[in-house]
Formats: sequence, structure tokens, C-alpha cells
Amino acid sequence: MRKPEHRLETERRALERALSRLSSLQVELAFHRARDPLVRYRAFRSGRLELRMHEALSSAPSEVLHSLVDWVLKRGDRGERLDRHLDSLAVELRRDTAPPPILLRGEVHDLGEISGEVLERHFTPGRAPARSPLTLLAPRPSSAITWGPRRTASAKARKSILFGSYDPVLDLVRVHPRLDRGDVPRRFVAFVLFHELLHAAIPAQRAPSGRVVHHTPTFRRYERNHPDWEWAESWERENIRRLASS
Ligand SMILES: [Zn+2]
Repeated sequence: MRKPEHRLETERRALERALSRLSSLQVELAFHRARDPLVRYRAFRSGRLELRMHEALSSAPSEVLHSLVDWVLKRGDRGERLDRHLDSLAVELRRDTAPPPILLRGEVHDLGEISGEVLERHFTPGRAPARSPLTLLAPRPSSAITWGPRRTASAKARKSILFGSYDPVLDLVRVHPRLDRGDVPRRFVAFVLFHELLHAAIPAQRAPSGRVVHHTPTFRRYERNHPDWEWAESWERENIRRLASS
């Protein structure tokens, strides 16, 4: 599936010239094969621009290249067109790799058992949300669930993923293994699972600025409706330092 080296180099040079022309900057382009991030840049005052991008972007349509240049010149959020292209490229690249292993049973907490209860109690089996004066239940997702890897470069790099994450491409909830301890209440693990499964049920939205909002007002409404919401917030506040440093 990969292009031959010499062809890639020809494309790299052509693209470097095209991007220099479009941006009026002195672009130095390099291709890589890392999936995260697919593209990044460093702009220098001298007008030099170091651009690193996944080699699969070498065949991106010209509108995508235009929005790439816009993004670099404005230094703001990535435009919708570029974002969409990167999203679908990410899906394609992941399709080529084997699915991640699923590990449900930890040393202390069993995610299979806990998520079964969470799904049963806090989500409705139908497609539409269930509404009554007392309950506001989001549709039940069928996402895969696993403990995250013990220690990987990406876990270290992504500090924001403290307790859990939801990957919409793989439809996979990951719970951080630092929660698999006797001094972390099962009730807290259950709430983290609830929060991540809610991400699967309530999709992220794009703000007018182009930024992706994961915790939409709707999401927050469902979350606050959980009877353990306040308890989980305060348990997290009291224990976050201890857990984050472990
Ligand atoms: Zn979240």
C-alpha cells in the first residue's frame, strides 16, 4: 500500500514548493509515518516553516492543502475541511492495524462486571433517550471496554487522559490502570465508566469556531443526572493528586 521511496520524495518536493508558494513562507517539509499527530509545524520569525506530516497526506486534495496553509498562517484552530480529512485519514490508518487487545479483569476491579451494571442502570436499551421526571437516560452504547496499557509513551504524553478515555474511531472505552487499586472505590470506577460510555452515547459537537466540544451542555445534563455525580466529583478532588502521581 505504501508508495515507493523515490516517488514519495518527488511528491515531497513538489508539495514543498506548492506550500511555499501558497503560504509565501519558506516551507521545509518532511514526511513521517507516525499517527499522532498526523501533522504539525513550527513557524520561525525568519519566514521559515518546518512542516511535518504523515506521508499519506501527500495525496491530499488541494482544498485540504489550502486549509492547511490557512491553519498555519492564522495559527488558530484547524479548519473543518482539514479536520475532516485528518479524521478520515486516522480511521483509514487504524483500519490497517490490528484491534487493541481487550482486558476487562484487573487485579482489583472487573470492568466487565462493573460496566454491565452501569449500562443496565444508567442507559436505556432503546435508541431514543428515556425521559421521565426522575430519569434522563442516554441510549445504551455497545462500545468495547478495556483497561488501558500499563505504561506507554502516549499515556505519558496525553496527560489529560487521567482516568478514562473514549475513542470514537475504535468505539472503545479505556480506563486508566491507575484506578485498578484497592484504595480506589468500585463506585468511582463505575462513575468513570459511566462518563466514558456517555461520550459514546452523546457525540461531540463542533463549535462555530471549529473547535470540537466533547462535554456539550447535553452531555453535562446527562452527567449531572447520575446520582453519584457530586460524590464522584468530590472524591476526585480529594484524591486526584495522589492518583495522578502514581
Ligand atoms: Zn469526558
